Amino acid sequence: MNLEEKLRKIPDFPEAGITFIDITTVLKDPDAFEEVIRQMLEQVKDLDFDIIVGSESRGFIFGAALAFAAHKGFVPVRKPNKLPAETLSIDYDLEYGSNTLEIHRDAIKPGQKVLLVDDLLATGGTANASCKLVEELGGEIVGTSFFIELSGLGGREALKDYEIYRLLEI
Ligand code: AMP
Repeated sequence: MNLEEKLRKIPDFPEAGITFIDITTVLKDPDAFEEVIRQMLEQVKDLDFDIIVGSESRGFIFGAALAFAAHKGFVPVRKPNKLPAETLSIDYDLEYGSNTLEIHRDAIKPGQKVLLVDDLLATGGTANASCKLVEELGGEIVGTSFFIELSGLGGREALKDYEIYRLLEI
């Protein structure tokens, strides 16, 4: 199956000059969605990890599906003020402005081996910030897994300390 053909590319969204990779066309196709999760699972099958962390919001979709398929737990990293229990926060810079992400302080136990999952690696800012949250809680990032890598945006450089698994490079 050609998974790239299942994606929809929207020019100039959310602003001029950005080509938005729309994964909803994959999600609504049961064969394509299953194939993505099957291949992502195959890439990490020899990796020793205890739990999956995924960031809001598309990291929830792929992270939770992969966690289910791998029979691992899932931990959400969320935008500010969404998680109800005690949280740890991180601020990170975007091209314009900054973002904040949070994780529950008791979500990761010291020494736990974590696989970070998201739909797409662009600049790597989101994934790197999520990894830092895990590490601050004492977890160990044993890999990062993406459906898609957008090359040329610095994602690999931002995640140079971590192993990267991905299905498509665009
Ligand atoms: P980044 O922090 O730059 O690696 O991007 C973080 C998140 O933003 C990714 O996980 C995607 O969900 C989303 N994203 C960034 N760029 C794009 C794009 N061109 N098309 C679709 N989603 C994107």
